[in-house]
Formats: sequence, structure tokens, C-alpha cells
Amino acid sequence: MTRRWLFADQLGPHFDVGRDGVLLVESRRALGRRPFHRQKLHLVLSALRHRAAELGDSAVLLRTDSYTEALRELGEPVRVHEPTSYAAERLVRRLVASGMVESVDPTPGYSLPREEFARWAGGRRRLRMDDFYRFQRQRLDLLVEGDRPVGGRWSFDEDNRKPPPKGAERLDVPAPYRPREDDIDAEVRDDLDRWTRAGHVSPTGVDGPRLFAVTRREAVAALERFVTHRLGSFGPHEDAMLRGDWAMAHSLLSVPLNLGLLDPVEVADRAVQAYRDGDAPLASVEGFVRQVIGWREYVWHLYWHFGPTYRRRNSLQARTPLPDWFDRLDAEAVEAACLHDAMEGVRDRGWVHHIPRLMVLGNWAAQRGYDPDALTEWFQTRFVDGYDWVMPANVVGMSQHADGGAMATKPYVSGGAYVNRMSDYCGGCRYDPKKRVGDDACPFTAGYWSYLDRNAERLEGNHRMARPLQQRRRLADLAEVVAQERHRGDAAP
Ligand SMILES: Cc1cc2nc3c(=O)[nH]c(=O)nc-3n(C[C@H](O)[C@H](O)[C@H](O)COP(=O)(O)OP(=O)(O)OC[C@H]3O[C@@H](n4cnc5c(N)ncnc54)[C@H](O)[C@@H]3O)c2cc1C
Ligand code: SF4
Repeated sequence: MTRRWLFADQLGPHFDVGRDGVLLVESRRALGRRPFHRQKLHLVLSALRHRAAELGDSAVLLRTDSYTEALRELGEPVRVHEPTSYAAERLVRRLVASGMVESVDPTPGYSLPREEFARWAGGRRRLRMDDFYRFQRQRLDLLVEGDRPVGGRWSFDEDNRKPPPKGAERLDVPAPYRPREDDIDAEVRDDLDRWTRAGHVSPTGVDGPRLFAVTRREAVAALERFVTHRLGSFGPHEDAMLRGDWAMAHSLLSVPLNLGLLDPVEVADRAVQAYRDGDAPLASVEGFVRQVIGWREYVWHLYWHFGPTYRRRNSLQARTPLPDWFDRLDAEAVEAACLHDAMEGVRDRGWVHHIPRLMVLGNWAAQRGYDPDALTEWFQTRFVDGYDWVMPANVVGMSQHADGGAMATKPYVSGGAYVNRMSDYCGGCRYDPKKRVGDDACPFTAGYWSYLDRNAERLEGNHRMARPLQQRRRLADLAEVVAQERHRGDAAP
């Protein structure tokens, strides 16, 4: 008899539970070691306890200080699936050596095994997400006819990425799935209150109603609601932001996906089925499929491909420590409308969609030269869907360009013009996106020129940055902009 030890991100039915029972562990050290968002702690504990309740007598749920202590308490070797972080992988290796773990099986949590990605990446001079995505579409037979893409194009990006509808305060789509809390959630809330008072955990953010699926049944209901009512609007406004609409037409599936409650291929298949049934347009479905079996899997594989030291890369020599207001999610300290709203979303929900992450929070951090490693830790702990594997490529690579361009060909930095085009924030902001100098100068616009000035030499060889760098040279008031931003220091804008 060998039990299966399931980590807290391996909770769906596609992870083998075998016939010999399951071990689940609440490790106080893992929960208390870092300043995780209160709602993230809630989601993880609620998911573990719900899974234990579902499995009934076949599951043992142990509450111990550490994972090793749980295995000692169990007193018999277990089988595991490959874990999702370097730290957990090292732990598993140690446990194999000491005989506490009998076997390590491949993870069914991602569609492509790691060796196959290594084969795909092997002979390539440059890794490109578009090539990987096409490979995935063909391999998984998603939106393809023979070897051609359905609709004649692999990407419908051009049809997507529209600004928000003029004058709209919200997108005209039904609300996302909202789970109903139960006794297990109440117990988790009590425990977290008690542990916080006792100093066992030091959460950030605020508590709030549970917004994300933590059981298989809830995850499937969330997927169904998204596909049936919201997927059709996903594509066109994928990159848009509205002050009055925090979810827009996004799926809110990253939490159940990262808890392992949904199989990514099942999610992509369901979206494709909606297209085949005539329930959602191709551009939206393709855009969504690209996120799930393209971006998500790409980021997962890059975590292993780039190795454990990638997280500490800092090719732009960004060394600014995160200021206190940023670290503490002090939205009230921030007057800039876009940044205020993004900070508030992180504080109150531990979640904002992709564009506030990339083009507001990440953009701000890049412009101010925040230390990429500290920022990675910030994203990982403050977001309800943050996990070790998902951060380096998204933060160090995509958002901060700290890897010298290994992941993205150019930095994702922009001035207020981008936010103005893609949102309704600027109209109600005390700053003016067109101004770069003066009391009402937009800190993103001024920050953009300041960033280019600071990094001009380091970005010189990047042909995609040639034009912005040339524009900077023509800026008559550049010295004034740079001095103004230096004077701002690490104050909240
Ligand atoms: C700076 C930064 C930090 C991020 N941190 C996280 C994180 O902690 N956890 C996380 O899961 N995603 C992260 N992302 C990716 C993406 O922003 C979120 O997956 C997405 O916003 C989650 O909301 P959703 O489920 O409504 O996604 P949707 O917009 O509905 O997209 C569908 C799914 O695609 C997947 N996906 C799309 N893009 C990515 C990506 N770049 N990386 C990984 N998965 C992707 C997610 O699983 C998501 O649920 C980050 C991106 C950036 C730029
Ligand atoms: S004016 Fe600048 S700071 Fe204000 S919302 Fe627009 S981009 Fe953000």
C-alpha cells in the first residue's frame, strides 16, 4: 500500500488518487513563511480542506509544522507527482533519498511533458511564444484543419485588443461565477484570524468574500459560466481597463487552474466546442486558447528551461527597494487613478487582470527601477494566483525585461498615452497623460522618458527600441523631466 501525497496545487481528478488513499498536508511553515495575501491563504486552505472532505476516509489531512514532519507522522512512504517549484523539487529529492518518497511521477497538470518541451526548445536559436503556441495547437488538434489554422490565421490578436467601448462604465457581459461560501470557509476564516493574532501567519491585503473556485464542482461551474456567457466578449476587450469593471470579460480561472482543479486541455477544448457550436466568435476563442495552452504552458516550461538563477537576473541594474506604500498595498497613498485602482484591486481581492499587472503595476515598477527579485516576490505573495513557477517569466522576463531580452523582444513600458487609450482612468485623474513636466504631469509619461534616459545605453542594441530612444534625444525638456522624477523619489504618485 502506497498513498499518494498531493500538493495543494494538485487537487483535481486528473491527478492520480490511486486506490491506496491520499495524503494532504497543511504545513504551518509553508503558510507562515511569507507575507501571503490573506485571501490567497484562504483559497489554498479552503481548497485543501474541501478536497479532504470530498475524498472522505481515503484521505488523511495532516496539520504539521513542515512537510517532512507530516511524512514522519504518516510513517509510511508515499508516491508524488512532480512538484511545481525548485524548492519543492529539492525537498522531494531529499525525501526520495531518505526513503520517505517512493516514486515521482510526471505531473498531469500541464499538457506537455518537460522532456518534450526540452526537445522542442533544443535546436532553436531563439524561443518564441508564437512558435510554441502553433506547436501546441497542432499537437493538441485545437482549432486546426489538417495543418492549417481554422479561419486561416494562427492569431486573431489584431481583431482583439480594442479600447473599451466609448462611454461605457462596464462591459455589457453577465457577471462572473461567484462561489457560495460554506462551513469549511467559515472554519478557515476563524483559523486565519486566530493564527494572525498569534503571529503564526502575517498576511497582507484584506479579507473578503471568496471570489474564486476551490473545488472541482465550483471550477467546472466557473468554466461553464465563462464559456457560456462571457467568452464571446473576451477577445475584443482583452487589453482594456474600466474603473467600474474589475473583471471585464476575463475568465477568473487562473486560481482553479493553478490549484490543479482544471486540466488546461479540458479548458481549451471547452472553448473550442463553444466556437464549433456557434456560441462564441473565433477571434475570442482563439485569443483565450492562446492564453491557456500558449502563454500559460510557455511560462511553465520557461521556469524550468531558464533555471533557478533566472529569477535573480537584473540586466538593467534595477536596484530600488520596493517603497513601503507599494509593499503594504497602500492604495490610499496613491493619487494616480490607474495605479490607485490597481493597488486597491490587489489589496481587496489579490487579483487584477493581465493589463493592470503588466501595464500599470509592472510598468510603474520598471520605470522606477524596482529590484526585479523583490518585485517577483511581491507579485508571488500578493496575488491569489501567484506561484513560484508562474512569476519569473512574467515578472523578470515579460514585465521587467531584466533577462536581457531572453523572453520578450522589448520592454513593456509605456507612458500615460497607452493607459489613456485603453481605459477610462485618465479622465478622472488629477494628472494629465499628455504632460511630462509640472504639478499635473502624468507620472507614467514622465516616468517613461526617465526610464529611457536611465537605460539608454543598455537598450541601445535593441532595434525595437531604436525609435523611442531617438525620440528621447529630440526631447527639449528631457533634463527637466529626469530631474523632476528624481525629485519624486520613491513617493507614491
Ligand atoms: C506581472 C505579471 C504577473 C502575473 N502573475 C500571475 C500569477 O501570479 N499567476 C498567474 O496564473 N498568472 C499571472 N500572470 C498572467 C495573467 O495576468 C493571469 O494569468 C491572468 O490575469 C489571470 O486572470 P484570468 O484567469 O481571468 O485570465 P484570462 O485573461 O481569462 O486568461 C485565461 C488563462 O490564461 C492563463 N494565462 C494567460 N496569460 C498567462 C501568463 N502570462 N502566464 C500564465 N498564465 C497565463 C491563465 O491561466 C488564465 O487563467 C501575470 C502576468 C503579469 C504580466
Ligand atoms: S493621467 Fe497618468 S497617472 Fe493618471 S490615470 Fe492616466 S496614466 Fe494613470
